[in-house]
Amino acid sequence: MSFSLTWLPTVLRSAGLKVAEVPGWENHGTRDIGIIKGVMCHHTAGPQRGNMPSLGVVRDGTRRLSGPLSQLCLGRDGTFYIVAAGRANHAGRGEWQGETGGNSHFIGIEAENTGFDSGERDDFPWPEVQMDAYRRGCAAILKHIGQDAIMCCGHKEFALPRRRKIDPLFDMNVFRLEVTAIMNGTALPPTVIPRTDSDGRSTFRRGANGDFVKQIQAKVGTDVDGNFGPKTEAAVREFQRTQGLVPDGIVGPRTWSALDGVSASG
Ligand SMILES: [Zn+2]
Repeated sequence: MSFSLTWLPTVLRSAGLKVAEVPGWENHGTRDIGIIKGVMCHHTAGPQRGNMPSLGVVRDGTRRLSGPLSQLCLGRDGTFYIVAAGRANHAGRGEWQGETGGNSHFIGIEAENTGFDSGERDDFPWPEVQMDAYRRGCAAILKHIGQDAIMCCGHKEFALPRRRKIDPLFDMNVFRLEVTAIMNGTALPPTVIPRTDSDGRSTFRRGANGDFVKQIQAKVGTDVDGNFGPKTEAAVREFQRTQGLVPDGIVGPRTWSALDGVSASG
């Protein structure tokens, strides 16, 4: 017998989002969850590299807090990972719009981000592909449960005492306006990266392989094996950060043109 939130993958996929089901998610939860009244946005405060390195911790919990630590994870590339159909330990004590049952009435989304907007672990701004999926995912869930965007809160807004939590770092009021626009059908279409640049070079992302991938690897200074895997993706993100580009780990026209300015190393 599975827990209640079995509708999550269908609702997210119907909104055009990328979804990955984590094995066993239908039966994962501390117990079953109550009536869903909203969705709560978090960031993982996890590692700077990788698409969703905190997935294991969110699924299994820590020594101090048993898992799952949220129902959903959101990777840097905009993929939603379905972690649990039951209740999760994500909210702690707090209140939002008169609702105090964070874990019983809110779906938690843990989005991969270090939680820093300066210094060594600076991870701001978030990749647009991730933010776009975050907004669309919240909009789809709210529509499904019949609630307005006001029932989408940040952990930092819910948590008591005030300032107990800082996540997520972005402005929740702006986020809710954008979610509302998506729900009303007045949002701009998602940013689509062109398939080729003016020199006819394709857009490359994780999973690609071949000679163009080798060129990319040589320029971003990672192992040149022609396979665009997690290490290459991390190196591309790092390169994009140094160039002031959106660090989405995808080599499209803008990143190609920045790479042209770099001579290959090793
Ligand atoms: Zn949180």
